[in-house]
Amino acid sequence: MREVGFECPICGKYYFQEFDSLEECPFCNWVVNIVQYDNYDFSEGSNALSVNEYRIEHTVLNNIITKEAAEILREEFRSKRNNMQKEFRVIKIEQTAPSCEEMCQQFVAVRLQYVEKLNQLQRHC
Ligand SMILES: [Zn+2]
Repeated sequence: MREVGFECPICGKYYFQEFDSLEECPFCNWVVNIVQYDNYDFSEGSNALSVNEYRIEHTVLNNIITKEAAEILREEFRSKRNNMQKEFRVIKIEQTAPSCEEMCQQFVAVRLQYVEKLNQLQRHC
């Protein structure tokens, strides 16, 4: 394990000790991911959003004006993702699994919709 201390890229309130862990920031719940840490636009990793997207989410979740709407959006996003994961599991059992590519495209579409809504919300901050 490499000993690298670094600040949480989302909230800056927490100091991680190493990259090779699945440690979660106690303030914003960002999970350590070296690929996402190196590329702030990379969205495939331990976190459902890229660092840049997560920062927008963090901003709207911590703003008094947008907090409530942001929480509803986040809940929607999470349940959509969960439902998709469940659906794909069922399809797999029935042997008509969509390709990984199709699944990825659907996850990306849901993510981009969510990010678009977050961006709109951020304008009110
Ligand atoms: Zn954090």
